[in-house]
Amino acid sequence: MNSDTKLKFGRKVISVEEARSLLYDYVKHTEIESVPLSCAFGRRLSVDIYADHPVPHFRRSGVDGYAVCSKDIEQASPEDPVVLRVIERIPSGTVPQQTVKSGMTARIMTGAPVPDGADAVVMLEMTDSQQDGGMSYVSIKKNIPAASNITPIAGEIGLGDLLLEQGTQIGPGEAAILATFGYSDVSVYRKPRVAIFSTGSELLNVEELLQPGRIRNSNSYMLAAQVEAAGGSSVIMQALSDDVAQVETALQEALTKVDLVLTSGGVSVGDYDVLVDVFGRFEGKLLFNKVAMRPGTPTSAAVWNNRLLLALSGNPGASFVGFELFAKPLIRAMAGCHSPYPEAITAYLDVDYDKGSAYPRYVRGMTHVENGCLRVKPSGIDKSSIMVSIKNADCLIYLPAGGKGFKRDTNVIIFPIK
Ligand code: AMP
Ligand code: MG
Repeated sequence: MNSDTKLKFGRKVISVEEARSLLYDYVKHTEIESVPLSCAFGRRLSVDIYADHPVPHFRRSGVDGYAVCSKDIEQASPEDPVVLRVIERIPSGTVPQQTVKSGMTARIMTGAPVPDGADAVVMLEMTDSQQDGGMSYVSIKKNIPAASNITPIAGEIGLGDLLLEQGTQIGPGEAAILATFGYSDVSVYRKPRVAIFSTGSELLNVEELLQPGRIRNSNSYMLAAQVEAAGGSSVIMQALSDDVAQVETALQEALTKVDLVLTSGGVSVGDYDVLVDVFGRFEGKLLFNKVAMRPGTPTSAAVWNNRLLLALSGNPGASFVGFELFAKPLIRAMAGCHSPYPEAITAYLDVDYDKGSAYPRYVRGMTHVENGCLRVKPSGIDKSSIMVSIKNADCLIYLPAGGKGFKRDTNVIIFPIK
């Protein structure tokens, strides 16, 4: 048996978990870079962020109204309002000039600093203003306890609090925190660059007219969208024909320029399965070439010049699933994520699934909620050659190996992918 034949037929099968851990050993964080906050959404912090001031840093009024000494209005009611003299107006963004003493009040706006002496703010709606001889007065029609409508200093965030941990992905809430603390630029991990090669002499470029026996390359664009969603930066390379020397040269060159190379196609047992031939003669280290999973059993991976090469099956369904299981966690980990694997949750199967399998299946699924329960069904025809159902998938349904299939209402594990 020559080495190519051995690689095709004499493969050692490993589990998805084993494959992941072999890949994980080669994960390196990308370098740190500083980017403007407005460009940092979706990126991950390379440092912990601590509060260098409390929030709020002044006693903040939560309403439009009047800052008062609460003792003054203890007896206030609509029938018997308490009248106070207005000593100043405090718009937000300004600082009070005077102390509020008994019998006095200050008109105050939402977000403005509460003046010294005042310990509550009465909502405007509970007051009536009056003018008398050039003086302003207000009658207060309700009693409110001390501290009402005032956020104390550090009421939200204390000085020195840990706000965001290194590795946190910047979403809306994180962006608001970073802006609050003056981070106009943020230290994040560079987006991992991922080169995407499709292989197959049947592949046409997306702009080409259909030709007999040939199809347009859809995997490269599907994978690029997956790379971007995972937090990477995709580089779609020219698709390669089934020519070993051409593929080898192209991959070797790409591996020097990117953090991860993805290929699709050519890992199976066909005569033109070019990646298998490359692995048969190249100088890198083959990590695995058969994984106990459906679809995508022949998914393979190698390390070459210290860079990872993940070779996915060419069938669109298998490429999609292989990416979600292996490439997405790699990209997330390279970009600084501490828990890169998708969380497993459970759902009830919404259909009978009759096919048993020698290997665990990862079925493209779509979820919905019925009577408060999460239910899931295949997002379309569950064949790895079927491309059109990928768009409806919001999870992978994990179906263990063996058996004769699964009955409707079985509780199954799913991995959300959106
Ligand atoms: P392979 O894994 O190379 O044997 O390909 C399996 C099937 O997937 C074949 O029908 C291919 O034509 C198809 N295929 C491979 N690569 C792509 C691609 N980039 N876009 C769409 N279909 C593909
Ligand atoms: Mg092929």
